[in-house]
Amino acid sequence: MSDAPETIFSKIIRKEIPTEIVYEDDLALAFKDIAPQAPVHILVIPKQPIAHLSEAESKDHALMGHLLLTVKRVAEQAGLNSQGYRVVINTGSDGGQTVPHLHLHILGGRQMAWPPG
Ligand code: AMP
Repeated sequence: MSDAPETIFSKIIRKEIPTEIVYEDDLALAFKDIAPQAPVHILVIPKQPIAHLSEAESKDHALMGHLLLTVKRVAEQAGLNSQGYRVVINTGSDGGQTVPHLHLHILGGRQMAWPPG
């Protein structure tokens, strides 16, 4: 795994910039997206710097599972369970990833369209 470069998310993990954090534990952080694309738009990130999903390795197995279970927990906390929600990981340039620190988008509070743009 190559380490992620210093990003805006590194500053968020270190609490150097104001962010609406909704969940935190030793491995993960969840906070409100600054440019929400749905009534609920939360990002879940690992504190460990992994730049892209494509760089995750077997040794990250438990962390990857933890991130998904964190999504479940945060979505439930945000009141999304009854209506559902979408989880998105943009990866690399074709995937539309703009911040090179792995993050899972939780989008909810409206009907999602398919296919995504
Ligand atoms: P992606 O395009 O998948 O890399 O997603 C990056 C996301 O990070 C975008 O949805 C941005 O709105 C969000 N973002 C960028 N800077 C911040 C910030 N300071 N606080 C919260 N969300 C941010």
